[in-house]
Amino acid sequence: MAEKCQRIMAILDSLYPAPPVPLDHSDAYTLLIAVLLSAQCTDVRVNTVTPALFTLARTPQQMAKQSEEAIRAIIRPCGLSPQKSKAIKGLSELLLQRHGGEVPADLDALEALPGVGHKTAQVVMAQAFGVPSFPVDTHIHRLATRWGLTSGKSVEQTERDCKRLFPKEHWNKLHLQIIYFGRGQCPARGHDPAACPICSWAA
Ligand code: SF4
Repeated sequence: MAEKCQRIMAILDSLYPAPPVPLDHSDAYTLLIAVLLSAQCTDVRVNTVTPALFTLARTPQQMAKQSEEAIRAIIRPCGLSPQKSKAIKGLSELLLQRHGGEVPADLDALEALPGVGHKTAQVVMAQAFGVPSFPVDTHIHRLATRWGLTSGKSVEQTERDCKRLFPKEHWNKLHLQIIYFGRGQCPARGHDPAACPICSWAA
């Protein structure tokens, strides 16, 4: 298994040597909001919506002053806008009340915010604070299962297995590389696994 993981990392490094963070942001707060908006929405669409949202408000102080309706009107293209606008306003208020208007670099404190699940919290820990994390999205869950790295039982199990199999110092880059691999290489249907740089030998 160790050899398999090394080979997967080498292939991903050659394909995506420096994977950029896909969601446009300027600090931990704008990243947190962008990740929240990306639930059941593409990163590309989120990036088209956030400039207007962050013109309206780009700090918890400014966002807490907005009405849910004003936020919702801007984020509507991302879907789930009633829930997301409520969460954005609510978490901004809580950041002011509990954390002095700062995004806490703490997984539990992040998960305690409205609209912030385990995956979102881990993305923020990894991409805003550089803390080794392995947020598992649908691409990672599917590919890790396909490559025989995990049983595919649950995303929680996939996270545990990926963290056990890959060296901690690679987690932050690796989770992005697998996401880019899934987006770039996996067509919706009808393709030849024999031509795939990883499935051809790892599946
Ligand atoms: S064989 Fe298909 S599903 Fe498997 S990683 Fe390659 S492109 Fe994706």
